[in-house]
Amino acid sequence: MKIVFATANAGKLREAAEVLGPGFEIVPPTSLGITEDIPETGSTLQENSLQKAQYLFERTGLPSFADDTGLEVDALGGAPGIYSARYAGPGHDNQANMAKLLAVLGRLEDRTARFHTVVTLILADGQPRFFEGVCKGSIGREKRGSGGFGYDPVFLPDAYPGRTLAEVSEEEKNAVSHRGQALRAMAEWLKTHL
Ligand code: IMP
Repeated sequence: MKIVFATANAGKLREAAEVLGPGFEIVPPTSLGITEDIPETGSTLQENSLQKAQYLFERTGLPSFADDTGLEVDALGGAPGIYSARYAGPGHDNQANMAKLLAVLGRLEDRTARFHTVVTLILADGQPRFFEGVCKGSIGREKRGSGGFGYDPVFLPDAYPGRTLAEVSEEEKNAVSHRGQALRAMAEWLKTHL
């Protein structure tokens, strides 16, 4: 089954292909001529992922899914949350985002946080279905590691004490990540309902 995934990120495409397995051909919007930025104007992760999946479903008529992720820091009341990508201002500069987060937290002891993902799946019936994943951890005091992307160098997952998500292998990250959990929940649903 051909299914469109609202991402241009090669790592996310690889992860989704691994989780869904051989019965699915996962294609990015660009391969279908959709090159514009997909609007994300919602006020929750669910609204944003729904908006992206719906946009693709309406334009391609193909089964579509989208993910939206936020980093929720307890001491900041859940910020940056849906604003994670633009925490340091417009654009997607991860280095600036991490620098701002480390500066805002300073020497604060309470550094607990989680990555939170909502995946929206829309099949031929046009009905949206939602799947969630959470990866618990804390924010480190400096950046460490070269793997992963985004906030990985400052995120210490509870599952791997002492290492940031940028210091674990892609396989180790996918096994515990927010997106991995949400994608596996979607894969389970597809297995039992298709
Ligand atoms: P998006 O919803 O995947 O576009 O991500 C929103 C924000 O969260 C961006 O700043 C990403 O860099 C960040 N982000 C998403 N997933 C991860 C992850 O697995 N590790 C680190 N940062 C992430």
